[in-house]
Amino acid sequence: MPIPFVSRFAPSPTGALHLGNARTALFNWLYARRHSGRFVLRIEDTDRTRSDESQVTSLMAELRWLGLDWDAGPDRDDLAGPYRQSERGPRYAAAFAALEERAAAYPCYCTGLELELARRSALAAGRPPRYPGTCAALGSAARAARAGEGRVATLRFRVPAGATLAYDDLVRGPQRFASDDLGDFVIRRADGTAAFLFSNVVDDVAMGVTHVLRGEDHVANTPRQRLIAAALGAEPPRYGHLPLLVGERGAPLSKREGSTGLALLREEGYLPEAVANLLARLGHSYAEEGWLSTAALIEGFELAALGRAPALFDRAQLRHWQKEAVHRASGELLEGWARGRVPTGQEAVFVAAVRANLLLPADAKDWARIVYGELPPPDGEVRELIVAAGASFFDVALEGLPERPDYARLVAALKEATGRGGAALFRPLRAALTHRADGPELAALLPLMRRETLQARLVQARALAA
Ligand code: GLU
Ligand code: ZN
Repeated sequence: MPIPFVSRFAPSPTGALHLGNARTALFNWLYARRHSGRFVLRIEDTDRTRSDESQVTSLMAELRWLGLDWDAGPDRDDLAGPYRQSERGPRYAAAFAALEERAAAYPCYCTGLELELARRSALAAGRPPRYPGTCAALGSAARAARAGEGRVATLRFRVPAGATLAYDDLVRGPQRFASDDLGDFVIRRADGTAAFLFSNVVDDVAMGVTHVLRGEDHVANTPRQRLIAAALGAEPPRYGHLPLLVGERGAPLSKREGSTGLALLREEGYLPEAVANLLARLGHSYAEEGWLSTAALIEGFELAALGRAPALFDRAQLRHWQKEAVHRASGELLEGWARGRVPTGQEAVFVAAVRANLLLPADAKDWARIVYGELPPPDGEVRELIVAAGASFFDVALEGLPERPDYARLVAALKEATGRGGAALFRPLRAALTHRADGPELAALLPLMRRETLQARLVQARALAA
């Protein structure tokens, strides 16, 4: 029997999948696939008011777009399901009962105010603000009396006193916590719902999860979750905590940098393979610095290659991987970017001409306008290039413009009449015809353009240069 390997992604569907979560999902998926293991998707929607079905649907769509698949999830049940926490209430109830039975958990009748006062006096005395254990030893009569006052109990986990809690973090190495620093913590809220850290570990155990990679913000939950698993007589998963994903200058990701998420990048036209190549390298390094196929991303995923420093997201890197992805993209895909923006039937020739200048669909739109549409008057560097060339340059170009635009003939005419060659010839010509200082080969663009367009732009350039 092979040793089972199960990893998971456990998002709370409370908004768009931001890049940090997308990276967590990708890492867990790569990790599972690398070990020929299972990958499951669990929706942590216990907080019913904050999530809705459409968010689950779009979350799954975004993960699929990124290239992830799951062996079990909300849309793919198995014996360990259901995979939505909102449907697992009875399982949590059973686990609460088991813990109470073993006196590993007890009802706490303290009010919010009482807890707050205890917290303040602990802080004032220079002690850590943990639960003072007020209800830890209440007998059944005392409990009944408090319930009789109308107090509604939470359920607290009884943390063993004086213990050292140690575990090996998959990313951070050996970790130690003093149990006395934790304090007995709430596992069931007064409204009867399970606390996040409780349902999270109960489900991991029930779903056979063996390995968890998650954000560093969960480090403090880990000793508590390991205690819960142990009290339930179960083996907790092995946890690894990933450094944060940050934006420029180490600040949390701003909206502009993509904190709003994967869906936005998708709408802008970023290709999933580009996003995957980027995310897989944020906090993880590959021996190969160049483009990696999905299979290679899986093959090269190693815990040892996970970094400890915050991972920096930067748009320039995203553009780099997008360029690589577009370079590898099928003609069909890029023709999709051109469709509706170029004359029907011209998609393939257009893409063949401008391909190297496409990064996003917006670029296809821009180049389509340059080739087939109308442009505002040139300005900036382009205008300067035109003015510097002088009117006579464009006179010659206009004379050299044959009935059927022929690039070779136009260039030959310009060379002969102006004595110019190289950049001195091509730069003003490009500026006048495309209103750009650089771009695709003119030889490839010209045959796509109507003679009237070329002529009008040369006339306009001549007027500017006069
Ligand atoms: N629902 C939790 C989150 O989104 C999951 C944490 C974990 O992976 O254990 O942060
Ligand atoms: Zn209490």
